[in-house]
Amino acid sequence: MSARVVLLGPPGAGKGTQAALIAEAGVGAHIASGDLFRKHLGEGTELGALAKTYMDKGELVPDDVTIRMVLERMDEQDARDGYVLDGFPRTLEQAKALDDALGGQGREIAAALLIEVETEELVRRLAGRWICRNCQTPYHESFSPPQAAGRCDSCSGELYQRDDDKSEVVRARLETYERQTAPLVGYYESQGKLARVNGQQRVEQVTADLEAAFGA
Ligand code: ADP
Ligand code: ADP
Ligand code: ZN
Repeated sequence: MSARVVLLGPPGAGKGTQAALIAEAGVGAHIASGDLFRKHLGEGTELGALAKTYMDKGELVPDDVTIRMVLERMDEQDARDGYVLDGFPRTLEQAKALDDALGGQGREIAAALLIEVETEELVRRLAGRWICRNCQTPYHESFSPPQAAGRCDSCSGELYQRDDDKSEVVRARLETYERQTAPLVGYYESQGKLARVNGQQRVEQVTADLEAAFGA
């Protein structure tokens, strides 16, 4: 039940939540471009410092460095047979680079799954989001609170709120999504790979719909 799957959707749609669950169910590695950038940031690398200048404004990090970082991650052992891509691709350029890299190996993406959520709900979700500093698991102060306040259920890591989940940056991120990422819906539709899933349901129901959409 390994597969190569892309999760598409605006900030707050539930990509991170669902990618972790689907990956754990046996699809493969959970590869989240945003998590990779935040890891670089935490480690104080040059790439982290560069990425921060874009993340702080709600803009996309340039394609060349993003593509290189994600393709390198995809080459690691745990991603050999399958993965769930979360937050990548986010531009047509990235989608084409992904197709080219896979095509060169005689492979392709099995499905691109679009998680659909209304804008008002996205804003509510991002405003109440808390992330584990250690394992990146997302929580929500009202919709999916941790068992112990401020601590991750799975690893006891400390929970924190992302700087870019503050309201002004959220608006910019939603605009960036509409302008640069929404066109990927048509791209994957024309390849016959797009499936739409209603993201405004209970977490477990969204997972079930996603799994049904790519035949897990
Ligand atoms: P969310 O899940 O809330 O959409 P992410 O953690 O995926 O947020 O991304 C946070 C930020 O990291 C983005 O606003 C952007 O600056 C940068 N980023 C993440 N993935 C990409 C990507 N594929 N291309 C360019 N920038 C990216
Ligand atoms: P993304 O990676 O697409 O930005 P996340 O998975 O981080 O989205 O989810 C954004 C916020 O919404 C988090 O606080 C998360 O706990 C919450 N959330 C995720 N899925 C649901 C859902 N089905 N219903 C309610 N809240 C959700
Ligand atoms: Zn954790």
